[in-house]
Amino acid sequence: MATDPIAGDDAALVLFSGGQDSATCLAWALDRFARVETLGFDYGQRHRIELDCRQTLRAGLVAREPAWGRRLGEDHTLALDALSAVSDTALTRESEIGFEASGLPNTFVPGRNIVFLTFAAALAYRRGIRHIVGGMCETDYSGYPDCRDDAIKALQVALNLGMERRFVLHTPLMWIDKAQTWGLAQSLGGRALVDLIVEDSHTCYLGERGQRHEWGYGCGTCPACRLRAEGYARFMASEAP
Ligand code: ZN
Repeated sequence: MATDPIAGDDAALVLFSGGQDSATCLAWALDRFARVETLGFDYGQRHRIELDCRQTLRAGLVAREPAWGRRLGEDHTLALDALSAVSDTALTRESEIGFEASGLPNTFVPGRNIVFLTFAAALAYRRGIRHIVGGMCETDYSGYPDCRDDAIKALQVALNLGMERRFVLHTPLMWIDKAQTWGLAQSLGGRALVDLIVEDSHTCYLGERGQRHEWGYGCGTCPACRLRAEGYARFMASEAP
């Protein structure tokens, strides 16, 4: 259709929280698409450190790879305060990180990724962007059902039907574990990119940035820190001669 506002196949919108996974996804998109915009969500997280890391990471990616600098476009932040109203979790309240009877961490916000991807698609629609990139992963994840490949594929169909578009939802981390995510960063930007992500991305559920470990900053004991530390250790072991 001649009036289709979709710019074409060369633009991507990356869900970019400032964590290890989304930083790797941003590098992945910058390596592939001519124009890349970023989107962060502010929904009353107990700690906003991840959001603060976003600008440092964006600047670091541009500084390390001039071609990426030419491709990196606008950064968007959407306030989704309503999410905190429907979540009874440690991310938005001063409670202990723990696990519910279902096995899911109490940081779980039901359907959060469905909400994020739906808002991302609405923004992509307005921006004339076809490709949407997210760090969802079902390999060594926390058990969020909306991170699973089938949920993402079903959502892609629903979004395309409901918005009459041909969005493509990309999840480059879906079938790799945390060690392989570090390896993907290395293959995209070498040790310099790994070092940038170690130093400037943030994953810790407790928002702890006082202590610097070899895998980055964090409390070292929450589930997110343990996953990151364990993945980094296996990545480094696989790099050893
Ligand atoms: Zn932690």
